[in-house]
Amino acid sequence: MIFKKYSMMRFSTIIGLYLLLQQIGFSQESMPAKPVVCHFSEENSFTQILPEDFIKNNARLLATSKIEVTYIDFPASAKIAFQQAVALWEKYLISPQTIRIKATWSSLTSTTLAVSGATRIFKNFTNAPYSNIWYPTPLAEALSGKDLNSGDYDINVTLNSNINWYYGTDAKAQAGKYDLITVAMHEIAHGLGFSSSMEVINSDTQGQYGQSGSAYVYDAFMQDSQKIKLTNTGIYGNPSLDLKKSLTSNALYFGLKNNKFANILPRLYAPSPYKDGVSFSHFDENTYPSGSINSLMSPSVRAAEVNQTPGELLLNCLNEMGWQINGLIGYVVTDTESIPEQNMEVKVFPNPAEDFLNVAIPLQHQPRTIKITLLSSNGIILQSIENQLVTVETFVIDVRALSEGIYFLRVVDGERITVKKIVK
Ligand SMILES: [Zn+2]
Repeated sequence: MIFKKYSMMRFSTIIGLYLLLQQIGFSQESMPAKPVVCHFSEENSFTQILPEDFIKNNARLLATSKIEVTYIDFPASAKIAFQQAVALWEKYLISPQTIRIKATWSSLTSTTLAVSGATRIFKNFTNAPYSNIWYPTPLAEALSGKDLNSGDYDINVTLNSNINWYYGTDAKAQAGKYDLITVAMHEIAHGLGFSSSMEVINSDTQGQYGQSGSAYVYDAFMQDSQKIKLTNTGIYGNPSLDLKKSLTSNALYFGLKNNKFANILPRLYAPSPYKDGVSFSHFDENTYPSGSINSLMSPSVRAAEVNQTPGELLLNCLNEMGWQINGLIGYVVTDTESIPEQNMEVKVFPNPAEDFLNVAIPLQHQPRTIKITLLSSNGIILQSIENQLVTVETFVIDVRALSEGIYFLRVVDGERITVKKIVK
């Protein structure tokens, strides 16, 4: 009997240790992602939102990321238009890792315009802002500064070859035709992470989300009209009827933390009945009608609808999910600054931070000026450290007085500039 008791204790201790290690360890995991399906409307829109005038705005003058596309069965003129969308996104996104897209030209069902999404999702990778949250491949790579899938594709985009596409790069709204640059920009955004795992299941009775027990980073920002997060398991069970009600409430929002948007939170597409693969991963069609500046991510692209600008709301959603966006929060890469390929040497940890933030700067032989600035999410300078000559490797910043939220740390190391997103 004594022996039996002893072995039971040992067993439970081992299980306990194993669970504890699992919690501390959070080892990196990956699995295939769920794609988004996009539809079209036959109605002609005759609206036109031109690409941003980069030179006039004196921002986004340079590409701050590299997007490489492999085309499968694409007609030559379609490639040219797709590349135009790629060149635009390269000026908005900041990533040290090449973003690889597989773009396929294929016959899809008659109501489908395109299918798109990240190839895979990753969690608990190096520098992941949140533990146990799935990030799409290109964002996980941008955050970790690592190629996580050995050079494989990060995004899959399939365009329906049966659509009457407009291949022109002159942003003309053509009756009965679908502007390929507009659609390519929209589909790339899904692949960057504008994609929810929420769904309605069990004969329209329950809402649920996540893969292998973890939510997508996009899901973690979804909130109801009372500003309650749908991933708040104290309020919303997963799966549950309450979740289903909110998912079909037509009153679902992307909870941007930036106060600037407190009263104009992006409204998500949450129709009743739920539309599989379409609901939630788009902005609300009625709130952002064709021709309005934030309409790129509305669920149904119209004929003769040209929109070649992401819009402030989409850029801020991407930014708060973890993307560094060129020209946002006052951070502008001009041609005198270096691009991020060379800027991954500065390490900031722990992130999320509670009390102190360590900024590790690799020592180099030559003396140079180091300037570290902590900024609020809307660009206000909170703290500044300036050193003429680096004699230490790690700077410590006291963040105990900061409230919970998103911050930016800008490190100027000689000629190199690094901007890191910090979660407190
Ligand atoms: Zn879409």
